[in-house]
Amino acid sequence: TTTPQKFEFQAEIKQLLDIVIHSLYTEKEIFVRELVSNASDALEKLRHTQLTEKEIHDDLPLEITITTDETAKTITIQDYGIGMTRAELVQNLGTIAHSGSKQFLKALGEGGAKNSNLIGQFGVGFYSAFMVAKSVKVYSHSWKKEEPGHVWTSDGSGSYTVEEAADQRRGCKIVIELKDDCDEFAKDWRIKEILTRYSAFVGFPITLNGKKFETVQALWLRSKNEIKDEEYTEFYKFQAHAHDEPMLRLHFSADAPLAINALLFVPSENTERYGFARLEPSVALHCRKVLIDAKPKDLLPEWLRFLKGVVDSEDLPLNISRETMQDKALIEKLNKVITKRFLKLLDEEATQRPDAYVKFYGEFGLFLKEGAALDFTHKDQLVKLLRFESSLTEKTKTTSLADYVSRMGAEQKEIYFLVGKDRTAIESGPYLEGFKARNLEVLFCYEPVDEYVFNNVREFDGKKIIAADHGDVKLADIPQQGEALSEAEVKDLTKWLKETLGEQVAEVKSSDRLVDSPALATNADKFMSAHMRRMMKAMNK
Ligand code: ADP
Ligand code: MG
Repeated sequence: TTTPQKFEFQAEIKQLLDIVIHSLYTEKEIFVRELVSNASDALEKLRHTQLTEKEIHDDLPLEITITTDETAKTITIQDYGIGMTRAELVQNLGTIAHSGSKQFLKALGEGGAKNSNLIGQFGVGFYSAFMVAKSVKVYSHSWKKEEPGHVWTSDGSGSYTVEEAADQRRGCKIVIELKDDCDEFAKDWRIKEILTRYSAFVGFPITLNGKKFETVQALWLRSKNEIKDEEYTEFYKFQAHAHDEPMLRLHFSADAPLAINALLFVPSENTERYGFARLEPSVALHCRKVLIDAKPKDLLPEWLRFLKGVVDSEDLPLNISRETMQDKALIEKLNKVITKRFLKLLDEEATQRPDAYVKFYGEFGLFLKEGAALDFTHKDQLVKLLRFESSLTEKTKTTSLADYVSRMGAEQKEIYFLVGKDRTAIESGPYLEGFKARNLEVLFCYEPVDEYVFNNVREFDGKKIIAADHGDVKLADIPQQGEALSEAEVKDLTKWLKETLGEQVAEVKSSDRLVDSPALATNADKFMSAHMRRMMKAMNK
């Protein structure tokens, strides 16, 4: 028919539009992301259709064209993609068949209405145009030759019309007449800014007001052996807004339990270590090259917040909507896979390139400690990656707990550590003597968090990890050289000491820990070492 036919929106769409139009949502700009990603989807679908169909309307390049008109206050987004027939216009733009909007409404139903941020999170797809539009016109011609072209028109207020339109090119041309307070979106620089933010990796050429918008290759989707180091570095600098060379990178794809392409980088420096602000998660989540979230909170465990890069879960069927990626379970799965891969990388570094690993550990070791103490799921793997100097290593050389255990004699049952500000401080203290005399290795911990970490970790390889200055440490069973007092002499001495020191000590005991020093104060508290007590005391005053 050539006369416009009027349709009512489905009830859910009305509800959705009402929220979209009246919300005070500030990030209106995401409508550009949504329409460009729809254009890109439509081009991708056409590419697939071309593989099997010979008769395709119009011979046109697979491109996206955006034009703005400041005087008319319009923005037009056109693609030469698959297009829509009349029936498809009605079905796709009038009912709530697609997942993104469904999820959005569901989340609203769950009490999220106050939080209009949801629009940005879920993306309400095509309907987001109504955040900025007085009216939206969708001119479309399907790839099917025999179908005529149409124009779909709506002001978002409950109904829309569809009528035939002559001379349409293949694909969709969406013309948005902007609301008066949204005229910023008719400005070239503003759209360029938005494209840079969300659509930099779109896989089809984009032209903005006659000028080519430079898209960046989605490097993570290419195969590793085709990519040069310089390309990786360039990508890192672009993506992380960085100026340094990355220290490590991890580029992998996986098919199970879900399709993932990931390209991750460890920067050259840990800025937190230099007192800068706590890092924010900054591995960006993409779906089919389109940004979903630049700083997704749960994509990685907290202690991996120093990683940069991109995770893309594509390779999924074309009809999957990227909004479903918000699904929590999916994010959890991604989290699991990526963390596992990264830990494997560190493990390989540690064994195959120990020098590089030491450099990494020097910068980022604190994050591994944080993870070992707090991330129960990955604790065991993380503890393996920790390194400490010890009474048996040379100064500045470190050992892993596994190597420590491999050196333990048959009579040694526990792993010992001492905390101090540096090697000299620990070696000159009284606590080490008894261990040295028995050839027992003691790990040296120089960082304030170390004790906390070991208190949380508690054991390694079935062996308890305990502070060597802890009162419970029993060295009696392990032989040492030298003469001891008789039992009677010991009894007399301890009695005299207790009487002399009185209330100042809880108890006086003979010890098997000392060699050269006559006495030491030990720690009766199970969970607090001398070092910790000093720290607490310092904090109290
Ligand atoms: P989603 O992209 O999640 O499916 P949208 O609201 O963004 O949801 O779009 C709804 C539907 O409208 C799409 O699934 C698609 O079928 C159709 N559509 C939107 N834009 C275009 C376009 N540029 N070309 C062809 N079809 C489109
Ligand atoms: Mg969409």
